This record gives sequence, structure tokens and C-alpha cells, in this order.
Amino acid sequence: MRGAVIHVPGDVRFEDRADPKLEQPTDAIIRISATCVCGSDLWDYRGINPVTQPIPMGHEYVGIVEETGSDVTTVKPGQFVIGSFFASDNTCEVCRAGYQTSCVHREYVGANGAQAQYLRVPLADGTLVATPDVPDAKLVPSLLTASDVLGTGWFGAVAADVQPGKTVAVVGDGAVGLLAMLAAQQLGADQIIAFSRHEPRQKLARQFGATDIVTERGDDGAARIKDLTNGLGAHCVIEAVGTQQSMMQAIRSTRPGGHVGYVGVSHDVSLPGQELFYSHAHLHGGPAPVRRFLPDLINRVWTQQIDPGKVFDLTLPLDQVAEGYKAMDERRAIKTLLEP
Ligand SMILES: [Zn+2]
Ligand SMILES: [Zn+2]
Repeated sequence: MRGAVIHVPGDVRFEDRADPKLEQPTDAIIRISATCVCGSDLWDYRGINPVTQPIPMGHEYVGIVEETGSDVTTVKPGQFVIGSFFASDNTCEVCRAGYQTSCVHREYVGANGAQAQYLRVPLADGTLVATPDVPDAKLVPSLLTASDVLGTGWFGAVAADVQPGKTVAVVGDGAVGLLAMLAAQQLGADQIIAFSRHEPRQKLARQFGATDIVTERGDDGAARIKDLTNGLGAHCVIEAVGTQQSMMQAIRSTRPGGHVGYVGVSHDVSLPGQELFYSHAHLHGGPAPVRRFLPDLINRVWTQQIDPGKVFDLTLPLDQVAEGYKAMDERRAIKTLLEP
């Protein structure tokens, strides 16, 4: 088969890779229907994560089950499935508490490289969820978002304790931040404030439920949130970037007793203990346990209550994956969908 491999930062190639095979009786092999480039792939592409050897890329996927190991019982060949970027057994205590990305048996599916024609998914029973039927092509982009960015934005909103009537602020206008706004709207938030400076993203933010746009960043941004909330700060703040500035912007935008849901992959963030102590903010986040939300998110897409696939503003054939990375790196695209 063929798939995307990064050789050095900035150099993603579409090349021959070994066909994946069943390695464990709990594995499934899927034929990829659609995959995409994630904001977190850009950490490798930009050399912020070291790339010391060729690495297969991609961790967001939907596809048709080709083959299953002898222990797999919940999915079968021919079904259309969606899975998280971490495989999980979905049966251990940690999974049952809803934290499948910290499953005691977790495996990183992305290590197998989902930007390819085929993918081996470990722990298929605990990882994959089948749709009611093979979907219409028009639903595929939205279903694909459930594999990571929608599930991650949703977890950010849940971790920030979004509830009906609450005021929500979202730091980050990438796909995860935008879909956190959609999640906040679905969960009944009253006011949703988007931090964004980019006109096309502001437009999408409004479509996903944002009621206010703030273009200031850092402490100026936090001050604007206070202006909009009677001087108190937001009840719920979702952090979807992962830098020192974005994390402090989130904490300083939160009212005493409020919640920060942080889902931007943390890079060199260090928190000042005394400020945290006096903030009275709840902090919760981490790698989103997407598997927890998959059945609900699939249902919302299937019944067309939500259209998260709008975050894809570039669709390319998989063999043009290099251009997909370049367009996102140069911020010409919010998110690139790839079709094998
Ligand atoms: Zn991702
Ligand atoms: Zn588990």
C-alpha cells in the first residue's frame, strides 16, 4: 500500500509502505475511506517535535473493516467504523470511568500511520464504533471529525463544565477550538466568546454558535472577557492551543470557581503556583477520551443535528498529502481532508 511518511521536518512523502497485517487476535484492519491532517501533526512538520527517522503519519480515520482477528466480536468486515487516536480495551477501570486515552492497555493508533490506504487498529472491540450503515459521502467529513477534533473539542467543553446558561470562552480558533464552540452550543451555553483574529475562522465560529468575537490576546484578551462578563470572567474556558500564553490567557479569563478545560497539547507550559492558588479555578484536561463520546457524536452527525465537517476547507487526494501539510502550515487551510 501507499501512505504518508515524514522524513525530516517539512518533508512529508507519499510512498510505499508495508501492508498492515493482523498481529493480535484483537486487531482489525480497515480500508481508509477518509483521513486528515491534524494541527498536532504540524508539531512534527515544523520540527518542534524531533523527527530523527522516517515516521508514518496520521491518527484520524474512518473506514471499512476489511479483516478482524479471531477475538473481535463487536465489529465485522464491511462495516463503516470510526475510532480514536488511542486504542483502548474499554473495559478496565480507567476506561469505565471515561478516560479511555489513559486505558491501562492503551496503544497509540497513530504509530501505525492513518494517512494511508489501510490501517491496523489494535483492541478493535474497545476502540472502533460502527455507524448504523455505510454513510452517504456527504456525512463522511463530519464522521471523520469525531475521530479526534470533534471529540477533543467536546471533551474540552465537558472538562470546562459547560452547561445550559453558562458563559464560555474558547482560546484557539483551529479545528479543535472551533468544534469546542459547537460543543458548547450543543451543551446549552448561553454566551460563547471566541478568541480569533482570522476572518474566515471568525465566520465559522459564528456558524458553530459563537456569540462574541475577541481579537485581543494574552492579558488584553482576558481583560476583554472580564468586560463582557460584568468584570467576573467566564464560567467555562476551553484552552485549545497548548502554549504558555494560551494557558495563562485561559486561566485569567476564568471567574473564581470557574472551570478551564485544556485540550491543546501542552508544550513548555509551566504554571505559577501562587496565582493558581488564588485563582480558585478548576483545571481539567489532557488527551481527550474521544471513545467516551463516539456513540453520542456519531448519532448527532447521523441525524444531522450538527455539521462539524465544515472545518475541512481543503480536500485533496491522499497522494497530495504533502500539499495538505503545507497549506495548513501556511495557514491557507484550517484543516485538510485526504481521500485515498
Ligand atoms: Zn489529531
Ligand atoms: Zn482500558
